[in-house]
Amino acid sequence: MIIDAHMHSDSRPVEDFRDISIAGVKAVVSCAYDPLEMNRSNVCFEHFNRLLNVEKKRVQQHNIKYFMALGIHPRAIPTDYEKVLEKLPEYLSKENVIAIGEIGLDTANSLEQEVFIKQLKLADEYNHRVIVHTPRTDKAKVTEKIIELIDENINPKLVQLDHVDFSIVDKVIDKDYTPAITVQPLKMSVEDTVKAFDEYGFDKFVVDSDMSYAPSNPMSLANLKHELEINDYDKKSIDKVMYKNFMSFHNMKSI
Ligand SMILES: [Zn+2]
Repeated sequence: MIIDAHMHSDSRPVEDFRDISIAGVKAVVSCAYDPLEMNRSNVCFEHFNRLLNVEKKRVQQHNIKYFMALGIHPRAIPTDYEKVLEKLPEYLSKENVIAIGEIGLDTANSLEQEVFIKQLKLADEYNHRVIVHTPRTDKAKVTEKIIELIDENINPKLVQLDHVDFSIVDKVIDKDYTPAITVQPLKMSVEDTVKAFDEYGFDKFVVDSDMSYAPSNPMSLANLKHELEINDYDKKSIDKVMYKNFMSFHNMKSI
């Protein structure tokens, strides 16, 4: 079994859900992000509503359990973002919404920081998990700021820190966060991911495809599982990164 801990179903065709289901993906977390210019809060709400009302059917028809993370992405902050924050608790109470996300910093400007801090505080107050984006540009530097804000504002056990690669893994591996590796051509390759498991173990990581409108390979997690299997990694370790660590992070007994 494979669980994809972070993807964007609304920018993918249904054929992808069919393929990943055949390849063993049993559940996905579709995250809110920046598919449109989120100039005003109403665009943001339309995006949330699409994930809630349309995407669930598109994904679940292929026997994949559909979870969501809703929140304000750092590249999609509406000018009236306070309205989104006000309504976020209501959205978070909806069925299958399991986290605030994806949130985080992209360039780390002061508006991004303000919105990130507010969402971290909200999550901490309501005991919600968060899925935190780390950027491609200036990754190490921006991630240091992200870590600083997480440590000041939220219980670290509620944090999935995403897009971890070799430039930041040493900064996060000893934290109480759940580190996530995005297996994609422009992020971590299958080979890199295996190397990270060799170096840092299988106990903490979850994996995701982050498949979206950007270059993506829907089969990346199935390819990773296959690579581990043909290289004789034990099933227990493989299961940890493929779904067990995800389930313990979300305190799920079954999906
Ligand atoms: Zn993403």
